Formats: sequence, C-alpha cells, structure tokens
Amino acid sequence: MLTANEIRDSFVKFFESKGHQIVPSAPMVIKDDPTLMFTNAGMNQFKDIILGNHPAKYKRVTDSQKCLRVSGKHNDLEEVGHDTYHHTMFEMLGNWSFGDYFKKEAISWAWEFLVDVLKIDPANLYATVFEGSPAEGLERDNEAASYWEQFMPADHIINGNKHDNFWEMGDTGPCGPCSEIHIDLRPEEERAKVPGRELVNHDHPQVIEIWNLVFMQYNRKADGSLEPLPAKVIDTGMGFERLCMAMQGKRSNYDTDVFQPIIKVIGDLAGTTYGKDEKTDVAMRVVADHVRTIAFSITDGQLPSNAKAGYVIRRILRRAVRYAYTFLGQKQAFIYKLVPVLVENMGGAYPELKAQQTLIEKVIKEEEEAFLRTLETGIRLLDKMMADAKAAGKTEISGVDAFTLYDTFGFPFDLTELILRENGLTADVKGFEVEMKKQKERARNAAAVETGDWVTLKEGETTFVGYDYTEYETSILRYRQVK
Ligand code: ATP
Ligand code: MG
Ligand code: MG
Ligand code: MG
Repeated sequence: MLTANEIRDSFVKFFESKGHQIVPSAPMVIKDDPTLMFTNAGMNQFKDIILGNHPAKYKRVTDSQKCLRVSGKHNDLEEVGHDTYHHTMFEMLGNWSFGDYFKKEAISWAWEFLVDVLKIDPANLYATVFEGSPAEGLERDNEAASYWEQFMPADHIINGNKHDNFWEMGDTGPCGPCSEIHIDLRPEEERAKVPGRELVNHDHPQVIEIWNLVFMQYNRKADGSLEPLPAKVIDTGMGFERLCMAMQGKRSNYDTDVFQPIIKVIGDLAGTTYGKDEKTDVAMRVVADHVRTIAFSITDGQLPSNAKAGYVIRRILRRAVRYAYTFLGQKQAFIYKLVPVLVENMGGAYPELKAQQTLIEKVIKEEEEAFLRTLETGIRLLDKMMADAKAAGKTEISGVDAFTLYDTFGFPFDLTELILRENGLTADVKGFEVEMKKQKERARNAAAVETGDWVTLKEGETTFVGYDYTEYETSILRYRQVK
C-alpha cells in the first residue's frame, strides 16, 4: 500500500515525466491581495499568467497546493467533521498547461496516472462532461467526450450542467467546460445493486469527485459574449486526501495515514478510541482537521486575531476547542499537543511546518487557554442561571440568558443545551432566536460596525461590504449602496 507521502510524490513525478516543472505550493494565507484571504485552489497562484498579465515561465507546471475553503463561495466549514471527505485545509494536486497541450493530453494523462500508474480499477471510474447550453450557443463538450470514450464505456460518461461542468473565473475573463472524474469506492455487493453512475454528484460518501479537469478555451467579454481564448489553458485539481482514501482502500479520508496518526494521539489524550461512537468521532475528525488548518496558517504568518483572516483562523480554533470540550471532555488546552505528530507526518513535504513548530505550539496553547477561560466564566454563569431557574421552580432558562452566553461567552447554543440537558433543564429556543434576530438588526443599524470580516457604514454611503470571492476569486471588491 502506498503511503500518502508516496502518493503525493508519484503525482508530481508523473507529470514531471510529461515535461512539467514541479513548483512549490504557494502560501495558503494570501497577504496583500484585497480579493482573497486564503488560497482555495491550485490555480490561484497562476491567475496572472492565465489572465495574460505575466508571461509563463514554464508552459507546463505541476504541484501540490495547500488550500483552505472556509469563506466566500467555497465554504465547506459546516460539513467538516460531519462528512468524511470535505476538509477545511486540504491539498490539491494539479497540472497546468499555459497555451501548450489541451484536452487530449489532459484526459489521457489523467487516465494514465490513475489506471496505469496507481492501478485504480477503471470499472470504478466515471467522467462528467459539459452537456452544453443552447441559450448561449454552447455545444456539448463532444471533444472531451470523444477522448473519454477511448478509455471508458459510454455509460460511464455522464452529462453535467453549467453549474457543475462549466468553469468561469468571474463575470468576464477566461472560462470553459470541465470534466470531473468520480470514483465509486463501495463494496461489490452495493455496486451490483445501484450502479455508480446514479450516485455521481449525489453527495454519496463512497462515490466521490476526485479530480476536476478545467479546459479554458473562451474569453467572456464585458457584453457577455464569448470569444476563443488565444492561449488555451489546462487547469486541473485533484483532492489529495480523497485520492489517498481510494488508494488505501478506506471508507473515509480520516481512515488514511494522513489523519490516523493524529486521531490516534487525540484518542490517547482523551482516553477514547475512534470508531466507537458517532458524536466522539465527529469531534475527533473536527479536531484532526482543524489543527492542520491552524498550524499551517500560523506557519504562513497568519496568527489568530480579531480581524479578517486572523478572525477566521480564531473561529476555526474555537470550533475545535468547543468540540473537544463538549464531546471529548477536554477542559484544558490539548490541541497544541497534536503539533508534534502533525510535524512528523507532514514536515517532510512542508519543511516550513517543522521550522515553525515551537511558535505553532505556543500560539495554539495560548489561544486555547484564553478561550477556555472565557468558557469557564460562562459555565459559572450558566450554573448560576440553572440554580436560579430551579429555585424558581422552572425547567427552562430564558432566551435572553442563552443569548448572553452565546454573545458574550462564545457558547454555541448546542453547548448550552447540552449542559442544560445534563442538569434536567432546557432553554427557550424561540426566545433565543428572537434575541439573535434583534442583534442582527442592531448590527445592521449601527454605524461603522466592525464585524470582523467587513465594515458597514451609515445610510446613504457607498459601503464596502466584503470581498466577493467568486470561484477562483479573481474578482472585485463588492460595494453596496445603503438605503
Ligand atoms: P465537491 O463537489 O466535492 O465539494 P468541488 O467541486 O467543490 O468538490 P473543485 O473546486 O472542483 O471541488 O476542486 C478540485 C478537487 O478538490 C475536487 O475534485 C475534490 O477532490 C477536492 N476538494 C474540493 N473541496 C475539498 C475539500 N473541502 N476538502 C477536500 N478536498 C476537496
Ligand atoms: Mg465544493
Ligand atoms: Mg463538485
Ligand atoms: Mg469540482
């Protein structure tokens, strides 16, 4: 069985053998770009080449890119831990052609890598192709389909709509159809019952998208019309952790050697084992996922803070602390203790992680301790609320009280409910929602309220309301006229 590190190596070496230059991952945290906080796809670092602003130093490149999808159009945060194949931080393996080869090579090399090099059973692979959009005069991507037909039976090639199979950089600029490779990892008996093609693109945890091949062949002009792109671009992205799951015969990304060593240490520290109980498992997955995001962000120079990218990282760390506190019984800082095993696993591929280990541990520990103190204060307050309720013969605490815990002490409502339930009490859900709504209105009405990610100004002013992270984020700051 190939290890994750071997799988990553084999990808870039394969494309090197096809004339690609291996380049390092760009930082995951993007500084000095008002349009994007975090790298969310391999192509981000090549944006200027694709737009024609910079000449390409190499016409063919390949890499493994650290990506983070926790804001804007690509926000997978709420899924993470609950499903088994979306992460906050993940690695995207990619190969690019800038005005060099196009669909034929992109498709046949993808196939060669998966089937000939990695020996994946072709019977389990499916490809989607753009079905066309007659309204725009766009035909089905018969060209891509014709190349897939050389490798796959017709019923493994599936039409996809504009949403899934046509990629646009923004309202204008390079765009084109894409083909996605999906893999069916279910056991034989299940595959016999329902064919994989019926589950492609249906959020099935064992029939998943692994690789997106984008064929940029048009330029969309300001009037919305399309013209052929002079230098066509191939842009591919494959989910590394998903590929590891497929290669290692696992049912979840978390069962691979990318996550298992971390999960093992979490279990040792928390006195539990993975796979016993769904709630504990979710918490272990959340912590294992989030520690990577936080460690790599700090490495890239983004510490947790109260604004913008730093606030996003702080919220992710607090999400991990809350899951660990609630479901793993961790009342003291412990996430920082996972850093050594992470460095051991990933420090080879990402030496910057190893170089910053001491700083990473120190920052995470301090951040955990500060947040746990707030949680403790909140818990003392909640204890008093519960005693008062009981003394008054009530079985419920008010929405206002639950909201105070949420707003001032960072208690998510489910944590409050959990503690109440342990004490035979409940919270007024409706009342809580009313307070939540009131607060949103207050925020909207207040002048120049810093909400962390954006600032809202007064009536009549043109307001900067945030960054518009369209897919692969080329775009443009978003402004709104306040009525
Ligand atoms: P999905 O539909 O599963 O959310 P996507 O279509 O949003 O994936 P792309 O933007 O096409 O993903 O990115 C290329 C590849 O990166 C995907 O085929 C997938 O393998 C992987 N990928 C995307 N999002 C994640 C994530 N949150 N965690 C891990 N891998 C991911
Ligand atoms: Mg997605
Ligand atoms: Mg998709
Ligand atoms: Mg995709």
